[in-house]
Amino acid sequence: MNPRLRLYFSFWAYPILAGALLYAGLAREPERGGLSALAFAGSGVLWWTLIEYLLHRFVFHPAAGGGARERLADRLHGIHHRVPKDPNEILAGPAVSLPPSAAVFGLLLAGTGSLSAAAAAMAGVWGGFLCYEGVHYGIHTSRAQGLLQRHRRWHFHHHFVDDGVHFGVTSPLWDWVFATARTPSRNAQRAGLTRSGKPS
Ligand SMILES: [Zn+2]
Ligand SMILES: [Zn+2]
Repeated sequence: MNPRLRLYFSFWAYPILAGALLYAGLAREPERGGLSALAFAGSGVLWWTLIEYLLHRFVFHPAAGGGARERLADRLHGIHHRVPKDPNEILAGPAVSLPPSAAVFGLLLAGTGSLSAAAAAMAGVWGGFLCYEGVHYGIHTSRAQGLLQRHRRWHFHHHFVDDGVHFGVTSPLWDWVFATARTPSRNAQRAGLTRSGKPS
């Protein structure tokens, strides 16, 4: 695959896949209304925020002890902590995002018993995931202010002060629920914007 297509895989592949699934769901269950699809898509976005939190907290930062889990976490996320500005380590390639996507879709299908409902919820999950990819990429590669500034403070606190807190990237919701939110450090903000990314 072309390196740029591979780097931005999620941004073109998942809208196409979501469109195909929504179309297949509508073809199979034409009686389902748009409001129901919107409600399932909204629940999918909420599910994404929880998936993002749980993956980051328990899969990307597993309890120490070595072994396959830690090696996998290092490959998936540890490298990103060491080279936080490398786009290839910020954005998820197909090998990383496709298998969990398939697993989540299988669970949604089993949970709802409806292709159109599962497709709408999956579109919401992918929508949340694409927000995550975009926000995470922007946090590390730009100095944009505004809303991103707050996300950057939380995430740089996680990167450069304490990687045991602030697991949410797009939303602090589950950090508040599970008490892993902290007051972000201004030093972390400065450190993340230097070339090395190391705290000064
Ligand atoms: Zn990061
Ligand atoms: Zn992390």
